[in-house]
Amino acid sequence: MGLVVQGNVVHVDHDNKEWLKTTPHGNPTTEVVEGLTVYCLFKRLLASRKSRRKHRNNIPGDNCPIIYALKGKDNLTTNISSIKKLEKLLSDYIVWHDVLKRVVIFSVLATCLFLFLLVLDNKHQTASAPLSQDWSSKSFKAISIKNSTNTLSVTPVVNYYGERGFATESGVSYLIQTDEHTILFDLGHNHKELLVSPLEQNLERLGVAPKDLDAIFISHFHRDHIGGRVWEDKNSIGFGFNQPALENTSIFAPVPLTYPGVNINVIREPKPLFNALASTGPIPRQLVLGKIDEQALVINVKNKGLVVIVGCGHQTLNKLISHIDKYFDVPLYGLIGDVHLPLEQGRLHIAGIDIQRRLASGEGLFSPIDKQDVLNDINLMSRKLKMVALGTHDTSDKSLLLVEKEFTGELKSVRVGKKITIN
Ligand SMILES: [Zn+2]
Ligand SMILES: [Zn+2]
Repeated sequence: MGLVVQGNVVHVDHDNKEWLKTTPHGNPTTEVVEGLTVYCLFKRLLASRKSRRKHRNNIPGDNCPIIYALKGKDNLTTNISSIKKLEKLLSDYIVWHDVLKRVVIFSVLATCLFLFLLVLDNKHQTASAPLSQDWSSKSFKAISIKNSTNTLSVTPVVNYYGERGFATESGVSYLIQTDEHTILFDLGHNHKELLVSPLEQNLERLGVAPKDLDAIFISHFHRDHIGGRVWEDKNSIGFGFNQPALENTSIFAPVPLTYPGVNINVIREPKPLFNALASTGPIPRQLVLGKIDEQALVINVKNKGLVVIVGCGHQTLNKLISHIDKYFDVPLYGLIGDVHLPLEQGRLHIAGIDIQRRLASGEGLFSPIDKQDVLNDINLMSRKLKMVALGTHDTSDKSLLLVEKEFTGELKSVRVGKKITIN
């Protein structure tokens, strides 16, 4: 008889006379059958003289000693120590085979992941240098913001921390009120894909309906700013799963987008928007996951100066501040928003890996943002800004502690539902 191997299943084939031969004089120690190594552990004990005589003229052993022994045919027997040895060997084999299989699978996956990351990093490095060069060679028309607002209030509607009763998540939305206008800056994440998103819940709690908005300002096309993953494929934006009527609302975005019934204003350079408001225009950055264009909102507050509202801060603080200094005729006063400082314990984990400070680093995956980068930014803030309200959707707690300790200006907290007032 022989064995037919199909995947992990072994069938006994009684027609096959070639495999697993044994003879009364001794068993082959191993037999390879279609890639399966069969170990013969059983000793074939000699049968009686009479029985041996009977078999003498037969083709020697086409029998499997294990099966024969179990069937008790041909007077074959097995001894206890053989069975025990087989049991131990089989259990050892199963355990080690299992461990080995896992090690091999893990090694293959880890190697593939590492190679993928290397390719990603290489792509990033290749694209990053020309983009920086292109940006430094660009020049725009300077912006004059003649008008100012007497009051400015900014209420976080979506952010990582919040006041009691407000929904929170790692996304961004701010409700901005000037003397004359109500603007919603970004539309949150709806990360859990709730039927009523954190943005919608919190707007309702604040007593604001979409139709009350004079403008929606989209900082950049990342899912935690456009209302969620659902809008990415549609190249659109939304309030949770909804797109309420916004016929009387202006929408400003840094890239072409669509919204039912609204012509979206695509901002391509520094530009005045309404009275006392302007956009920095998109500042590009090559991230590991691709290029992103991010604009920030600039508001001129009377007797203070410019307050800049920032989404993720992919632009980098250095570029953002020097850009505003270069193209706006009013000095900077303060900053509200995130400047992308995810030290350890960032908000984004993939497969349990704290990945955000690697994805956010302009130097690539293998040079993550570190404490010195954060200290450099704090130093810059202290030199250029009198007030900072730092969001926490991509700024880790560790960075926030450093800012609290080192920033020399006025530091305000960003919590959903807690109004930040500047006047
Ligand atoms: Zn973000
Ligand atoms: Zn982003």
